[in-house]
Amino acid sequence: MKTLKNLIGNTWEEPRGTEYLEAVDPATEEAVARFPAGSTDDVDRAVEAADRAQPGWSALPVTERVALISAWADTVAGHTDELAELECREMGKPVGTARTFIDGAVAGLGGVAAEALGYPFEQDIERADGGHTRILRHPLGVAAVITPWNFPVAMVLSALGPLLAAGNTVVVKPSERSPLSTARLFELLDLPPGVVNLVLGDSRAGAPLAEHETVQLVHFTGSVGVGRTIGANAGRQLHRTVLELGGKDPVVIDADSDPKTAAEAVAFGAFVNTGQICTSMERIYVHREIAEEFVDALATAARGFTVGDGRQEGTVLGPLVDGRQRELVHRHVTDAVDRGAGVRTGGAVPDGQGFFYPPTVLTDVDESMLVMTEETFGPIAPVAVVDSFEEGLERASRSRFGLAATVFTHDPGHAAAAARIPAGVTWINEWQGGGPERLYEPARDSGMGATGAHAAYDAATRPASVHAPAPSA
Ligand code: NAD
Repeated sequence: MKTLKNLIGNTWEEPRGTEYLEAVDPATEEAVARFPAGSTDDVDRAVEAADRAQPGWSALPVTERVALISAWADTVAGHTDELAELECREMGKPVGTARTFIDGAVAGLGGVAAEALGYPFEQDIERADGGHTRILRHPLGVAAVITPWNFPVAMVLSALGPLLAAGNTVVVKPSERSPLSTARLFELLDLPPGVVNLVLGDSRAGAPLAEHETVQLVHFTGSVGVGRTIGANAGRQLHRTVLELGGKDPVVIDADSDPKTAAEAVAFGAFVNTGQICTSMERIYVHREIAEEFVDALATAARGFTVGDGRQEGTVLGPLVDGRQRELVHRHVTDAVDRGAGVRTGGAVPDGQGFFYPPTVLTDVDESMLVMTEETFGPIAPVAVVDSFEEGLERASRSRFGLAATVFTHDPGHAAAAARIPAGVTWINEWQGGGPERLYEPARDSGMGATGAHAAYDAATRPASVHAPAPSA
């Protein structure tokens, strides 16, 4: 079985810590690799390497940094099949789905890095009084990037582009549930030593990294619980944070929607990646007038998804990432059923190897149930019937999460009212739409720090102003 190492200053190193963890294929429950569990010593070495490399990296012209990052993106683009297979093996996603998201992230890495060429790192302003002001946007220094397992490669790449292009160096700590693809990603790296470092492990690596006194920015993507801990510690240390956290995204379906079209869109939004997307549709409010047809069509669509090993041709949904996640998902379903929900399809843990769970449609749900209040992160579509669009909006807004929301309606007034849902992104009659002009910040507990436009560069830099008076005559 392969044993993974840490990457410190472009050298693959044995860990200083002695404990190891195993990566398990969720489709077969077989261990496929072992890797360091993480230690403060390993983190210290990685942060020191990043700190040593930072002055040299930030001194390079931005054009050179962007060229190096783009060259890495080109190399990665030649290995997306291999990375997709690794994602499938470590967290179960079908290879084709993995490839789609990795391709997007690789293109995004090149594109976002290139945005640095238009970013105002230096602005010279001639003032009305004849004086001169120069605004400089300095890199912050060493950044920690801590990622989850649901899109392992994409989460790392999307965080790295602006941080690196702006002149920061980084230490990456991927999820202990998906270390394989990130390790391979960094084997393909061709940047100066210490610019990108990798420390493997769980919170034994994550916590000392997030709290390290040299780290200036913690870029964290993960759960609300861990985000809260990181935010609290960062506050004490006066570290900057970008926190991209969990969601419990609502969908409101108006009476004028075509029930079958909406059901097919919801089936995709609730079940793809086996429901393990931060913006999965997790609460569905459908107008009573079309509810019956909608639920029938949703259950039909759910039964149409092929669940299986992500390496097999035709598999649409792989297993959940591990047994712990499956227990959580099933606990939410059981809690809902105990409180009066109906199971239209799915809802049972299948026999056999692998952490599979069927696409499940629940009816008669309400906000007393975990499945309508806590992030489930599984292939569950809980459907509540509402008597008006207004009731749907009101219930959609009643959540401590605020990542994204979707509304299906053909009424322009209702479409406009959808913006009242507290969310970073609201989609009307689509899901996951929007291009590079996107700009948003999650609401409520779903995180802080804006995404899109130049926001990532603003977060990766610190503006400073230099003033000089008018030259004396
Ligand atoms: P998690 O919070 O359990 O773990 C995320 C990362 O934090 C892992 O690398 C983990 O090892 C590390 N970690 C754990 N404890 C830590 C500590 N005390 N200090 C520092 N690091 C620590 O999340 P997860 O289960 O890996 O991922 C799923 C979550 O991520 C879901 O809530 C999902 O919604 C969220 N997510 C959000 C976005 C977004 O863009 N908002 C994107 C993807 C996933």
